[in-house]
Amino acid sequence: LYVEHPLGVGQSVPLDKGQAHYLFGVMRQAVGGQVLLFNGQDGEWRASIAKAGKRAGELICEEQTKPLQMPPDLWLCFAPIKKARTDFIVEKAAEMGAARIVPMQTEFTNSGRIQRDRLQAHAVEAAEQCGGTYVPEVADMVRFDRLLHDWNPDRRIMFCDETLAASQIGSQMDTAGPWAIFIGPEGGFSQKEGDRLRALDYATSVSLGPRILRADTAAVAAMTIWQQALGD
Ligand code: SAM
Repeated sequence: LYVEHPLGVGQSVPLDKGQAHYLFGVMRQAVGGQVLLFNGQDGEWRASIAKAGKRAGELICEEQTKPLQMPPDLWLCFAPIKKARTDFIVEKAAEMGAARIVPMQTEFTNSGRIQRDRLQAHAVEAAEQCGGTYVPEVADMVRFDRLLHDWNPDRRIMFCDETLAASQIGSQMDTAGPWAIFIGPEGGFSQKEGDRLRALDYATSVSLGPRILRADTAAVAAMTIWQQALGD
């Protein structure tokens, strides 16, 4: 269970209405029962249920069961598409261990707005479901130009470029350290944006194969390739 509360030995953790409903109503837990908790910072903890009510409850932390497992320093920068597909991208990125998820507005981005809180909640659910102890932050939507203007060149870019014939990413991507994957919108990156990315000496252009993948498929394929080459 994800909680927004510090975790430590003997720490009391209050439960809000939604959490109480889930634990006591849906999961049928009761006082004395045990729950695994994480907050994205303190690892995973076993807690016992001290109070169980319809609208609230209290847990007491007993022992740490997992330390915080930080994922590799990989960002996924993508252009939001339709709502359900954007949800999918955030969910899969969190499951696959992205450290940060950055929605970016490119020239051809279909959707100019995102519901950041909703996407963050999807990231929490995904981390919960795969037993992760870390929750990637979903950043506010940022314009492509602004993102690159403020970019720290220590973070290398894996530019997913469907116009490439082929690539040998294994040999090109041999540098550990911070990375970001760039995935364009349904219409792809504009010529100008693509040229700008290709000109960066800290960006590597990568093909994901001969077929043009939908942006949500491309995000999952790119993370898999990155993990195979560099991650763990
Ligand atoms: N510009 C394309 C078009 O309209 O024909 C479509 C872009 S594709 C649907 C969306 C994004 O997924 C691209 O901007 C790229 O980042 C990524 N992508 C899809 N297929 C790819 C491939 N085979 N290799 C590399 N990147 C790919």
